[in-house]
Amino acid sequence: MRLLIMGPPGAGKGTQAKLIAEHYGIPAISTGDIFRSMKTADTPLARQVRDIMNSGGYVSDDITNQIVAERLAEPDCEGGFLLDGYPRTLAQVETLDAALVGSGTPLDAVLALTADTDEVVARLLKRAEIEGRSDDNEDTIRVRLQTYADQTAPLLEVYGNHGLLVEVDGLGGIEEVSERVFAALDGKLAEGLVATAELVEDPS
Ligand code: AMP
Repeated sequence: MRLLIMGPPGAGKGTQAKLIAEHYGIPAISTGDIFRSMKTADTPLARQVRDIMNSGGYVSDDITNQIVAERLAEPDCEGGFLLDGYPRTLAQVETLDAALVGSGTPLDAVLALTADTDEVVARLLKRAEIEGRSDDNEDTIRVRLQTYADQTAPLLEVYGNHGLLVEVDGLGGIEEVSERVFAALDGKLAEGLVATAELVEDPS
């Protein structure tokens, strides 16, 4: 199963990514985690990544694409993978698509967790209170949600046009959501298998 996961802050993306990876026996690969772990190394690339992350910007497409390509070439990705936090730009979408189609291992699905904005705001405000994050107030949270929506909308459109998009409501209990996610992904995978079988039977 080759998957991407997308979702706004507060929709439980990290929790669901872990459960999906366990359920399908695939590694969950978060580019944010990769970059955070690189920050401590003392190499020119690590210093560059550290500076970009500290300024709140994006790591360049070239560096990001290369790091993901190297990670996907590792043996644990042979049976599939779940990418989290990548792709984030249209250039990254194109590079990933070309690499996967080139190796005959295209994506099976792009999972987008959806969540009602007011509910997510309430969730994040509660979390900020519990964790004492005073910089998380309703305004900053709404800006982050809007930024997510603006940045992902063009990517979701591309994947929607490719017939890969699977949208699942991310609100509810953890298990309730994961059951919904597994059912939706299994459905998508079955659809893909039927399409492949038809192509083999009738290659015209
Ligand atoms: P995240 O934990 O996904 O929010 O990522 C943390 C930081 O890592 C981001 O603010 C970016 O600086 C960097 N990063 C993660 N993924 C990407 C990506 N696909 N493209 C560019 N920068 C990224």
